[in-house]
Amino acid sequence: MFDLLFKYTKDGWWAAILGPVMVILEIVFDVAIPYAMSLIIDQGINARGGDISYIMRIGLVMLGLALLAGIAGALSGIFASIASCRFVRNIRNAMMEKIQSYDFKNIEKFPVSSVVVRMTSDMRMLRMAYTSIVRMMVRTPVNLIITLIMIIRLHSTLALIFAVAVPVLGCGLIYILKTARPRFRVMMKKFDGMNSNLKENIEGIRVVKTFVRADYEEDKFSYVSKDVMVTQRFAESIVILNQPFFELVMYACMIAVAWFGGKFIITGSLSTGQFMSYLSYVRQILFSLLGLSMALMQIVNARASVDRANELLNEVPYIDDSEADPDLMVKNGSIELKNVYFKYFEEAEKPTLSNINLKIKSGETIGILGPTGAGKSTLVQLIPRLYDIYSGKIKVGGKDIKDYKLRNLREGVSMVLQKNTLFSGTIEDNMRWGNPDASFEEIVEACKNAQAHDFIMSFPEGYDTMLEQGGTNVSGGQRQRLCIARALLKKPKIIILDDSTSAVDTDTDRRIQLALKKKLADMTTIIIAQRVNSVKECDRIIIMNDGMIEDIGTHKELLKRNEVYRDLYTTQQQGVAE
Ligand code: ATP
Repeated sequence: MFDLLFKYTKDGWWAAILGPVMVILEIVFDVAIPYAMSLIIDQGINARGGDISYIMRIGLVMLGLALLAGIAGALSGIFASIASCRFVRNIRNAMMEKIQSYDFKNIEKFPVSSVVVRMTSDMRMLRMAYTSIVRMMVRTPVNLIITLIMIIRLHSTLALIFAVAVPVLGCGLIYILKTARPRFRVMMKKFDGMNSNLKENIEGIRVVKTFVRADYEEDKFSYVSKDVMVTQRFAESIVILNQPFFELVMYACMIAVAWFGGKFIITGSLSTGQFMSYLSYVRQILFSLLGLSMALMQIVNARASVDRANELLNEVPYIDDSEADPDLMVKNGSIELKNVYFKYFEEAEKPTLSNINLKIKSGETIGILGPTGAGKSTLVQLIPRLYDIYSGKIKVGGKDIKDYKLRNLREGVSMVLQKNTLFSGTIEDNMRWGNPDASFEEIVEACKNAQAHDFIMSFPEGYDTMLEQGGTNVSGGQRQRLCIARALLKKPKIIILDDSTSAVDTDTDRRIQLALKKKLADMTTIIIAQRVNSVKECDRIIIMNDGMIEDIGTHKELLKRNEVYRDLYTTQQQGVAE
């Protein structure tokens, strides 16, 4: 936790320093008040026989001290709040930056809902703990030291009561903290589960409604929510013991001080004024210990959040491009894969892709067909280095992909993923997301090539039409065409369409391919499809099966020699005819 504190306090350092300074001032003023009170009793009332002007003067001093203590206390709260808000903002920004550096393999480790909780609820916990650290972690030790000195000076024998009370409080506190920590960890995990469940339900609400599964989802959520409640109650049940335990010890101390203090007054070793200020110091000590214990409780809660933040922040991207040449750009659309093997998990026995050898010339159009799970998407994801290969070599534009900075490589290789997404904003905003510098004419041209222009113009607001998050207010086929247009706008050397026209009708699909082939002839195009018609115009078609390339050829060649391709084509043509 303290690592994080030092690293991310950055622009809030002045507030982080001023906060404790104000706390120290507050304590100094606080500690002076009981001393002034003892002067009123011992000097003003007892020694000077009720000297009103002396009592008034000291009374005014006490008032001033109380006022100053209040101002210092308020300022310490304000500075602590400024420091904690900035601290949490810095961590959040760092987390966001880190997540952006993740590659696909890292992303798969963290469910979306868990990332959201880490960046919201966990950060709230951390902010509260930070404020407590700034206030209590300084206040308590300083207060304790000063007050202990004062009470030892007043009556050292009476101070022995604390030699018993402090260890008792310490042991109780350690027990509570130790028991609470694992419980809070489990609680945060359960929170993640509940959020995951909620996200899945809300995102899939249309499917839930279609299948009339609202009751089932309600039951499922209520079970998860109950589980969270039970875990939360279990975790907090130990924390709530803190206050009664402290109060018990506190009042026992007060009684002991009153008992022994009374005796010392009778024997004359303690004056009434000293006794009164002694009681005030005792209260101060016990309240600051109670405050410390509460702050520690918050810190324990926050420890679970710190661990979770660190998990995100310390995650190392699997793909490292630090050695790559920052000036190397993709010059052309040629691709070469040499003896490529790939597996998603190191420990997997069988590779997902085996012995892939393939040469694609710049400007070629390549189709990829094959049964589901054959490895088509996996193969194309290796070209922009979304995953690193297990062995072999991949070249793009004549250079090993590891020689490029990821940013430069992915500028040259544009990919429309199978599960693509649009963002909330206008259609034009979404297009510019692909290329912020594109002119409106370039946007229109990309949309025309992706056969999206006509339907965009059919909307009353045209390119200013607002898209909802995920593009849910346009049809599946329209969404796919917008995603293709966005990828084209980057003017890449290579474009990969991973089943990106599956929801588009056959005629529009053909027009997209023609536009890619004729108008964007310099660009290498790779099209993964389920329909033979979507790839039959390609220069070459790759047939994949079981993670391997089974055959490569033109439509005509494959029709002649490849039985699987011929069967697939015949069946699909029959389907079209019917
Ligand atoms: P489809 O046509 O259904 O999209 P595909 O030919 O594109 O299938 P891939 O998605 O490349 O097939 O999947 C190849 C194999 O790799 C499958 O067995 C799949 O379960 C596995 N696989 C795919 N993605 C992952 C992943 N992220 N983690 C682990 N295994 C994966």
